[in-house]
Amino acid sequence: MRFSRLRLNGFKSFVDPTDLIIADGLTGVVGPNGCGKSNLLEALRWVMGENRAKAMRGDGMEDVIFAGTSARGARNFAEVVLQLDNSDRLAPSGFNDSDLLEVVRRITRDAGSAYKVNTKDVRARDVQMLFADASTGAHSPSLVRQGQIAELINAKPKNRRRILEEAAGISGLYQRRHEAELK
Ligand code: ATP
Ligand code: MG
Repeated sequence: MRFSRLRLNGFKSFVDPTDLIIADGLTGVVGPNGCGKSNLLEALRWVMGENRAKAMRGDGMEDVIFAGTSARGARNFAEVVLQLDNSDRLAPSGFNDSDLLEVVRRITRDAGSAYKVNTKDVRARDVQMLFADASTGAHSPSLVRQGQIAELINAKPKNRRRILEEAAGISGLYQRRHEAELK
């Protein structure tokens, strides 16, 4: 399974629909300060189910919606679509019946987030589990934020274990055990 395309609409500074083809191999994003490089990575994390507004550098989740400028009005929704090439058929079970997976997250002002996988409505948890089981995901160590290395070094052992579990691709199991314990 691999990322093949990222589409943004109304997400942060990407007010106009933006379509990014993610080719095989390494992708570099370059541009002047403030052009939206970090916003792109945040869009990737967000569509995978990130629910901490702070990780999106906002106070509330609606801060990801284009807020308007002196020239353009604010938008009412933000949408990010992530396409995954699943021709190797390595997607976790439940999501593994097609060569292409399309994950959509849309947030509407005052109405919160809604998720779809291949046009079917799903819960945030389903999307988080999809990526956790594929050992990527919003909290995955494959997305390294500025300052995160220092965070890992200074983390309490329990939190450090979480990061290692995510890297090992077993955080989905951890989450299911935690939910089972709550029942
Ligand atoms: P640097 O090189 O400094 O790290 P960058 O390319 O990573 O810059 P970002 O931090 O991704 O840039 O983009 C910042 C820009 O996004 C700022 O101009 C900010 O005003 C804009 N921005 C962030 N959130 C929103 C929003 N909700 N609506 C409109 N613009 C936004
Ligand atoms: Mg940046």
